[in-house]
Amino acid sequence: PLQDMEKRRQGIRDHLVLVPCPFQGHMKPMLHLANLLHSKGFSITIIHSQSNSPNPSHYPHFFFRCLGDSSHIQSASDGDFVPFISALNQHSPTIFRDLLLRMHFQDPILSIIHDSVMYFPVTVADELDIPRIVLRTSSAAAGFAFALSIPKQQRSLPFQENELEEALVEFPSIRGKDLPVINTFHKEARDEFLARVHHGTRTASAIVWNTFRGLEQTTLEKMELLFSVPNFPIGPLHKHSGASLTSFVTEDHGCIAWLDQQAPSSVIYVSIGSLITTSESELVEMAWGLANSGQPFLWVVRPGLVNGSSNAAQLLPKEFKETTNKRGRVISWAPQEAVLAHRSVGGFWTHSGWNSTVESISEGVPMLCSPIVGDQRVNARFVSHVWRIGIQLEDGVERGKIEKAIKRLMVDEEGTEMKKRAMDLKDKVASSLRQGGSSSEFLHSLVDFIKGKLC
Ligand code: UDP
Repeated sequence: PLQDMEKRRQGIRDHLVLVPCPFQGHMKPMLHLANLLHSKGFSITIIHSQSNSPNPSHYPHFFFRCLGDSSHIQSASDGDFVPFISALNQHSPTIFRDLLLRMHFQDPILSIIHDSVMYFPVTVADELDIPRIVLRTSSAAAGFAFALSIPKQQRSLPFQENELEEALVEFPSIRGKDLPVINTFHKEARDEFLARVHHGTRTASAIVWNTFRGLEQTTLEKMELLFSVPNFPIGPLHKHSGASLTSFVTEDHGCIAWLDQQAPSSVIYVSIGSLITTSESELVEMAWGLANSGQPFLWVVRPGLVNGSSNAAQLLPKEFKETTNKRGRVISWAPQEAVLAHRSVGGFWTHSGWNSTVESISEGVPMLCSPIVGDQRVNARFVSHVWRIGIQLEDGVERGKIEKAIKRLMVDEEGTEMKKRAMDLKDKVASSLRQGGSSSEFLHSLVDFIKGKLC
């Protein structure tokens, strides 16, 4: 390969290959990372699956390579993503190897950066001796909790621990019942999936996190002890650069004009992310909880939100729509970052997915947390008990409890205190991104690390 100086003289950029996972909450941070590294002078190739592929016309500055026809792989249904992700990991190595060989020959690859749940690059990268960096799209807390949950691991905790009310000895910030849960009919595939993700992360040359040191320093230190791999907490990734088009779905920008007409900090924004589903009865409880709270609301009801229905909004009771006609707005997909940054939004009722959590923290918006699966309970516990910028709704979705919780968050003194702490965290986000701030410094080190200037 050409030496650094010579390459720069000839305008040749160092080549990175990025492998995202085709879910909204995974694709988005990877594309933000890609933009960021491109702005630091790297050339970027995105290797993507056929399903949920990013739109190349939004990224004319990247190269794209597809992992071939994966139409035989059934997309994730009813929140059970294990068969889909396992099949994708099984389908991809041969095609990936061919792609990589060809690319590496034409334009040597400096490093592969892959989502931790896309573990298929591990073997091929080792074989071709290409350094491999992992992007964890979860919080460091969830990463650590996942590591504790790995079956057969030395410090393993059996999955029954998920029932426990007590704090964990290994990780006192969370209770046994907050440990990550992956609900699936395919338990063996899940255990293999977790073990492979764990292995891929442990053996990577570095880990990039969409979090920042001011938020998760203690956990990042625990992670470093556990994995002895350099960690680069450079988040929140979406705040480094300006807005970019990372959504698979068309956003309803009309809601911003509606927000403009609402009183400051009065609106509760509601979304349970891109993947999880509810039952019709839960949807109805949510609706009446919102209606009875008396607060203005902006609610994302995705067409596929309710199991077995292709138009969830149609299932909302007529009386609910009549009662809340002026005070609430139901949309199918929001420009979430812009919504959270809007001065009328005073709270976020969320499923505690990590992107949603970190986007809310970045704008100083306190949260009402309804975690369901995966890492969401860990995030919700940190929001409610460690950072104390939200409330966790426990024990099911019931209109009376929802109404009370919304009032606690949006009206009571308790909520005002949470808002203050959330605003402090927003300031910390801003200082971590400024020149000399931790995320900005870690980004410099990551660039040096990739270029081999830092070991
Ligand atoms: N999102 C959005 N509009 C919506 C709902 C969600 O743009 O109406 C985005 C949100 O900004 C976040 C992502 O979808 O970046 C959801 O990721 P998260 O990790 O919160 O949850 P997941 O969907 O992976 O469960």
